[in-house]
Amino acid sequence: MHVTNDSPETQLDWAIQTCRERGLRRTKAMQELLRALIASDRPVTLGELCELDALADQCDRATIYRLLGRLEEKGVVRRLGLHERAAYYVFCYPGEHHDYLVCTGCGKIELLGLECPVEALEKEVMSQTGFTGIYHELEFFGRCPACAG
Ligand SMILES: [Zn+2]
Ligand SMILES: [Zn+2]
Repeated sequence: MHVTNDSPETQLDWAIQTCRERGLRRTKAMQELLRALIASDRPVTLGELCELDALADQCDRATIYRLLGRLEEKGVVRRLGLHERAAYYVFCYPGEHHDYLVCTGCGKIELLGLECPVEALEKEVMSQTGFTGIYHELEFFGRCPACAG
Protein backbone atom coordinates (compact mmCIF):
# COMPACT_ATOMS: atom_id res chain seq x y z
CA MET A 1 0.00 0.00 0.00
CA HIS A 2 1.34 3.39 -0.91
CA VAL A 3 -0.91 6.38 -0.40
CA THR A 4 -0.45 9.74 -2.06
CA ASN A 5 -0.19 13.01 -0.13
CA ASP A 6 -1.87 14.93 -2.93
CA SER A 7 -5.17 16.57 -2.04
CA PRO A 8 -8.45 15.15 -3.37
CA GLU A 9 -8.78 18.23 -5.59
CA THR A 10 -5.35 17.64 -7.13
CA GLN A 11 -6.28 14.03 -7.78
CA LEU A 12 -9.56 15.07 -9.34
CA ASP A 13 -7.82 17.60 -11.59
CA TRP A 14 -5.36 14.93 -12.70
CA ALA A 15 -8.20 12.51 -13.55
CA ILE A 16 -10.21 15.09 -15.47
CA GLN A 17 -7.13 16.25 -17.36
CA THR A 18 -6.14 12.67 -18.20
CA CYS A 19 -9.64 11.86 -19.45
CA ARG A 20 -9.70 14.99 -21.58
CA GLU A 21 -6.35 14.15 -23.17
CA ARG A 22 -7.79 10.73 -23.99
CA GLY A 23 -10.97 12.10 -25.50
CA LEU A 24 -13.47 11.97 -22.65
CA ARG A 25 -15.10 15.26 -21.76
CA ARG A 26 -15.95 16.25 -18.24
CA THR A 27 -19.57 16.02 -17.13
CA LYS A 28 -21.13 16.79 -13.77
CA ALA A 29 -21.85 13.10 -13.22
CA MET A 30 -18.30 12.11 -14.07
CA GLN A 31 -16.94 14.68 -11.68
CA GLU A 32 -19.17 13.47 -8.83
CA LEU A 33 -18.29 9.85 -9.55
CA LEU A 34 -14.56 10.58 -9.47
CA ARG A 35 -15.00 12.60 -6.29
CA ALA A 36 -16.74 9.65 -4.62
CA LEU A 37 -14.05 7.20 -5.70
CA ILE A 38 -11.26 9.48 -4.53
CA ALA A 39 -12.96 10.02 -1.17
CA SER A 40 -13.38 6.30 -0.54
CA ASP A 41 -10.56 4.63 1.34
CA ARG A 42 -11.46 1.19 -0.01
CA PRO A 43 -12.79 -0.38 -3.21
CA VAL A 44 -16.51 0.31 -3.71
CA THR A 45 -19.28 -1.51 -5.59
CA LEU A 46 -21.64 -0.11 -8.18
CA GLY A 47 -24.46 -0.49 -5.66
CA GLU A 48 -22.64 1.61 -3.09
CA LEU A 49 -21.92 4.32 -5.65
CA CYS A 50 -25.57 4.40 -6.74
CA GLU A 51 -26.66 5.07 -3.17
CA LEU A 52 -24.64 8.27 -2.87
CA ASP A 53 -26.88 11.33 -2.97
CA ALA A 54 -24.48 13.37 -5.08
CA LEU A 55 -24.62 10.68 -7.77
CA ALA A 56 -28.24 9.61 -7.42
CA ASP A 57 -29.20 13.22 -8.15
CA GLN A 58 -27.18 13.18 -11.36
CA CYS A 59 -27.86 9.86 -13.01
CA ASP A 60 -29.24 6.35 -12.83
CA ARG A 61 -27.47 3.05 -12.26
CA ALA A 62 -26.97 2.26 -15.96
CA THR A 63 -25.35 5.64 -16.53
CA ILE A 64 -23.01 5.20 -13.60
CA TYR A 65 -22.07 1.75 -14.87
CA ARG A 66 -21.30 3.06 -18.36
CA LEU A 67 -19.32 5.94 -16.95
CA LEU A 68 -17.25 3.58 -14.80
CA GLY A 69 -16.44 1.60 -17.96
CA ARG A 70 -15.26 4.75 -19.75
CA LEU A 71 -13.15 5.86 -16.80
CA GLU A 72 -11.64 2.38 -16.68
CA GLU A 73 -10.78 2.63 -20.39
CA LYS A 74 -9.05 5.94 -19.78
CA GLY A 75 -6.98 4.41 -17.01
CA VAL A 76 -8.19 6.48 -14.08
CA VAL A 77 -10.36 3.77 -12.54
CA ARG A 78 -9.63 0.10 -12.11
CA ARG A 79 -12.13 -2.70 -11.73
CA LEU A 80 -11.35 -5.48 -9.31
CA GLY A 81 -13.07 -8.61 -8.27
CA LEU A 82 -13.79 -12.19 -9.04
CA HIS A 83 -16.73 -11.65 -11.36
CA GLU A 84 -19.20 -9.11 -12.66
CA ARG A 85 -21.58 -9.66 -9.75
CA ALA A 86 -18.95 -8.75 -7.20
CA ALA A 87 -17.08 -6.02 -9.07
CA TYR A 88 -15.36 -3.31 -7.09
CA TYR A 89 -13.98 -0.04 -8.35
CA VAL A 90 -10.98 1.93 -7.22
CA PHE A 91 -9.44 5.19 -8.29
CA CYS A 92 -6.00 4.85 -9.92
CA TYR A 93 -3.51 7.55 -9.20
CA PRO A 94 0.15 7.71 -10.23
CA GLY A 95 2.48 6.80 -7.40
CA GLU A 96 -0.32 5.33 -5.36
CA HIS A 97 -1.03 1.66 -5.11
CA HIS A 98 -2.89 -0.82 -3.00
CA ASP A 99 -2.76 -4.53 -2.47
CA TYR A 100 -5.90 -6.52 -1.86
CA LEU A 101 -7.43 -9.38 -0.01
CA VAL A 102 -10.24 -11.12 -1.91
CA CYS A 103 -12.73 -13.56 -0.40
CA THR A 104 -13.41 -16.47 -2.74
CA GLY A 105 -16.62 -17.20 -0.84
CA CYS A 106 -18.56 -13.93 -0.98
CA GLY A 107 -16.33 -11.94 -3.35
CA LYS A 108 -15.68 -9.22 -0.78
CA ILE A 109 -12.50 -7.19 -1.27
CA GLU A 110 -10.50 -5.47 1.40
CA LEU A 111 -7.40 -3.37 1.23
CA LEU A 112 -4.37 -5.05 2.64
CA GLY A 113 -3.29 -2.73 5.42
CA LEU A 114 0.28 -4.01 5.51
CA GLU A 115 3.50 -2.52 4.34
CA CYS A 116 3.81 -3.50 0.68
CA PRO A 117 6.17 -6.46 0.35
CA VAL A 118 6.99 -5.79 -3.31
CA GLU A 119 8.22 -2.20 -3.51
CA ALA A 120 11.87 -3.13 -2.94
CA LEU A 121 11.57 -5.87 -5.55
CA GLU A 122 10.17 -3.35 -8.06
CA LYS A 123 13.27 -1.19 -7.72
CA GLU A 124 15.46 -4.22 -8.30
CA VAL A 125 13.44 -5.26 -11.36
CA MET A 126 13.80 -1.75 -12.81
CA SER A 127 17.53 -1.63 -12.29
CA GLN A 128 18.00 -5.12 -13.73
CA THR A 129 15.74 -4.79 -16.77
CA GLY A 130 15.85 -1.09 -17.64
CA PHE A 131 12.05 -0.97 -17.43
CA THR A 132 10.65 2.25 -16.03
CA GLY A 133 7.30 3.09 -14.52
CA ILE A 134 6.86 -0.42 -13.18
CA TYR A 135 3.83 -1.00 -11.01
CA HIS A 136 2.04 -3.92 -9.48
CA GLU A 137 -1.01 -4.87 -7.57
CA LEU A 138 -1.26 -7.94 -5.43
CA GLU A 139 -4.40 -9.88 -4.79
CA PHE A 140 -4.42 -12.43 -2.01
CA PHE A 141 -7.28 -14.91 -2.21
CA GLY A 142 -8.86 -16.74 0.68
CA ARG A 143 -11.92 -16.96 2.88
CA CYS A 144 -13.06 -14.02 4.98
CA PRO A 145 -13.97 -14.64 8.65
CA ALA A 146 -17.71 -14.55 7.85
CA CYS A 147 -17.41 -17.20 5.13
CA ALA A 148 -14.96 -19.37 7.06
CA GLY A 149 -17.17 -19.40 10.14
ZN1 LIG B 1 -16.47 -13.94 2.41
ZN1 LIG C 1 2.03 -3.62 -3.27
